[in-house]
Amino acid sequence: MSNSDTSATENNKLVSNFIRHIIDDDMKQNKNNGKLITRFPPEPNGYLHIGHAKSICLNFGLAEDYQGICNLRFDDTNPEKEELEYVDSIMDDVKWLGFNWADEPKYASDYFGKLYDYAIELINQGKAYVCALTPEQSREYRGSLTEAGKNSPNRDQSVAENLDIFERMKKGEFEEGDRVLRAKIDMASPNINMRDPIIYRIRKIEHHQTGNDWCIYPMYDYTHCVSDAIEGITHSLCTLEFEDHRPLYDWVLDQLQTPSHPQQIEFARLNLNYTITSKRKLKQLVDENHVHGWDDPRLPTISGLRRRGYTAASIRDFCDRIGVTKVDGVVDMSTLEFCIREDLEHSAPRAMCVINPLKVVIESIDEALVEELSAPRHPKDESMGRRQLNMTRVIYIDQSDFEEVPPPKYRRLSIGKEVRLRNSYVIKCESVIKNEQGEVIELRCTHDADTLGKKPEGRKVKGVIHWVSEQYSVAAEVRLYDRLFSAENPEDAAKKHDNDDSHFLDFLNPDSLTIAAKARAEMSLSDVKTGDAFQFEREGYFTVDKDSTSKKLVFNRTVSLRDSWARIEKK
Ligand code: ATP
Ligand code: MG
Repeated sequence: MSNSDTSATENNKLVSNFIRHIIDDDMKQNKNNGKLITRFPPEPNGYLHIGHAKSICLNFGLAEDYQGICNLRFDDTNPEKEELEYVDSIMDDVKWLGFNWADEPKYASDYFGKLYDYAIELINQGKAYVCALTPEQSREYRGSLTEAGKNSPNRDQSVAENLDIFERMKKGEFEEGDRVLRAKIDMASPNINMRDPIIYRIRKIEHHQTGNDWCIYPMYDYTHCVSDAIEGITHSLCTLEFEDHRPLYDWVLDQLQTPSHPQQIEFARLNLNYTITSKRKLKQLVDENHVHGWDDPRLPTISGLRRRGYTAASIRDFCDRIGVTKVDGVVDMSTLEFCIREDLEHSAPRAMCVINPLKVVIESIDEALVEELSAPRHPKDESMGRRQLNMTRVIYIDQSDFEEVPPPKYRRLSIGKEVRLRNSYVIKCESVIKNEQGEVIELRCTHDADTLGKKPEGRKVKGVIHWVSEQYSVAAEVRLYDRLFSAENPEDAAKKHDNDDSHFLDFLNPDSLTIAAKARAEMSLSDVKTGDAFQFEREGYFTVDKDSTSKKLVFNRTVSLRDSWARIEKK
């Protein structure tokens, strides 16, 4: 039903940006022999989120546009936090977004052998040494932003000694934290990343790809540049926080005879308001059951957005619209919502679903009568065909469409007033029935039989409301989602609170999920399947959730019809 299956290129608007300018210049000068190779390098320690989508669209999108290739490479240097479940979900998400990587997925761990050999090369050149400082001592020796660091007592050890101890580290003769291998750069560098950074550490943990082959693991900064170089990456795109790591990226590759020396280019990461895009914090929300799993439709994970009803095309469109710059900023959630509305407006068939039903008995309609009515599935797209609606004596309308004491200019139903039932007749409310608490539980109405497809004689009826037949409708649970956090920037709000952003949980929106358990949907929805998308008239866009059963359909509200937040905020 949606256009999520159209290819990524079709959707690409080819908006230029500073990275494209750099690549265009490189191409003109025939740098890299006119080739472009990018990579998307996730760490498999969580599910991908909307921020990753930006990086995916950028890296894979460039490869498509410049007839290059993009590798998917798992940055799996940290055996402790990584799991196969994450590897699988990342592959699924990239594919679902509409992209394909070159060859097989790659793993930094594929290069553990080569990384080790390169480390030996650094030691042989006198550019790396084994350090025996404890983690506390190391911290002390590192210095600070205003103070130079101090040389480790091991810094001038002989090459032979370094080779011997590094070999013994590899054999498992030392415990975690007892020894590390460090690059020998400059303990007085104003850039702390250059103060003899650690390039290998001991971790006696099984790795999901290499099992127990290794008990020493290369650090991210060392691994990343070497992996890029091994794969012949031409442009290594990363987020701005790695700008200060670029001198180290270049230093490592300058020392070694690697097959290539990729160019690192930094761009601004995506931040989205009213949510968080940190895998660590998303994992905390999942692990502590603040949400129901990684694909909870409230999360900004790719799998959450998908379950919520976002299409791949809408996410790619969003990434195109926000562009790629070097300036950090926060993108408004309404931009993402705009993109899905744009997509579903064209692709989603219309249907009626009464979310909070109020029983209506139309006394002028005979109990045995079933009148077949028909309505278009889409007002502007006849090719979607028509659907059948059955008019009967007992129907449901939404509780919010009736007021006993209507406010001025009220266009819905109240006692003695008329309203049109969408795709059906004009009805008039004659009286109400209340329960013991005084709540209206049923409306008694009559209909004007001369109003099907035409205006009522001699009067204007402005309001139109949706409805379903009691008999010809199906039970549904409708999950209404709102923003996950009540603070625009939960991490900053937490910091302001007590200078500690770990209290972001305090800003969870308690009303982020409302369940309407007694909704009823029109009969034509009885054979829907998970992922189908609809516009429920007057309500918004909804998608069928995987929790649906033969007894009860479950719908997720993807997005409301209009941006209700924009209106509230302006008030
Ligand atoms: P997190 O802090 O959520 O763990 P990360 O950067 O550590 O994010 P990685 O798995 O290392 O996550 O990210 C893979 C790629 O995605 C990297 O190149 C990273 O720069 C990019 N990326 C991650 N988050 C964002 C974001 N919010 N906006 C743009 N790119 C991002
Ligand atoms: Mg990371």
